[in-house]
Amino acid sequence: MIIKTFVEGPISANNYLLIDENTRDAVLIDCSSPREEFVNAVKSENVNLKYLFLTHGHFDHILGCDKFKEVFNTEIYMGEKDTFQVEIASQMASYYCGIEPPQITSITNFVKDNDEFKFGNITVKAIATPGHTEGGICYIIDGKLFSGDTLFRESVGRCDLPKGNRKELLHSVKEKLFALPEDTEVYTGHGPKTSIGYEKLYNEINNG
Ligand SMILES: [Zn+2]
Repeated sequence: MIIKTFVEGPISANNYLLIDENTRDAVLIDCSSPREEFVNAVKSENVNLKYLFLTHGHFDHILGCDKFKEVFNTEIYMGEKDTFQVEIASQMASYYCGIEPPQITSITNFVKDNDEFKFGNITVKAIATPGHTEGGICYIIDGKLFSGDTLFRESVGRCDLPKGNRKELLHSVKEKLFALPEDTEVYTGHGPKTSIGYEKLYNEINNG
């Protein structure tokens, strides 16, 4: 599997384009900007963009969805409980970044805990990880974890935004993510990648 990282949008979120090199089928994890350069970079890979999976509904991860749906006609999936986050996305973007993006309307498919998808010969498995948002989802793809804002290198996502819940977040990380093999590489929603083994040792949540 080929992994291309695009840092995009008002809060520099990581968007990951994952490509099965045999079939050129691909998926995109998060879509934080409609920027033409981003669209063209994905176009230039000559892939069949089968799915767009969202880790959660915060504005800084979804602002490119309508554009990508229009250009690539891809199916967009998200945890259903984050519909609320999509509804308030413009408001939040205005409050935090002083921008007023149009309402995103293309997120029409929902993903649940343990759902599986295929692109090319590669399997995508969804893990529900509520806490940062109610409908937060992490994805395991080809043995790698795409953690959104649930788990970062040495930290976890904030829980002070609407419908955040620290207790649920800690449960999601400790019981679900830390149960994965220690050598699992973790591709985060912001900042550098990490691994489950490293986070079990060095994540801030270990200190209380
Ligand atoms: Zn977030």
